[in-house]
Amino acid sequence: MKNIIVILVVVLTFTSCQSQEKKEVSRKQTTTKIQKTDAEWKKELTPEQYEVLRNKGTERAFTGEYYNHFEKGDYVCAACNNVIFHSNMKFHSDCGWPSFDQAIKGSVIYKEDNTFGMTRTEVMCAKCGGHLGHVFDDGPKETTGKRFCTNSVSIKFVPAKKS
Ligand code: FE
Repeated sequence: MKNIIVILVVVLTFTSCQSQEKKEVSRKQTTTKIQKTDAEWKKELTPEQYEVLRNKGTERAFTGEYYNHFEKGDYVCAACNNVIFHSNMKFHSDCGWPSFDQAIKGSVIYKEDNTFGMTRTEVMCAKCGGHLGHVFDDGPKETTGKRFCTNSVSIKFVPAKKS
């Protein structure tokens, strides 16, 4: 009898381990997002990038590198290089931050943000979850009407290749 119980326990433990392993594998296969610990991000990003991308901070208006930047190329996520905007989506706004009328399809995710007594829509990188900025409905009417108000610190400009 004792032997049977021991065998049963061993078999049960083994099968439960196996199913856990399967779960682990399927979770990895469906998760394409980059997931890193705070310590890892802190090591990779500059203090300014970390503050904005991971702590959802905001750079001071009119101070960002790309506020008045209108060269041809792409803007990628400063944390994971996911391409977020093309230069032809950028427009000049007086708000003090780089502004785009749209983001590349599938490159960002949205989240309702109720901090600071406002209701805003937060824009995050779809690949790493990094905070990019917010989207508002006061963009150029002749295109999308949207204004993706973006921190320069959260993005990196990659110039178009000269042909
Ligand atoms: Fe990213």
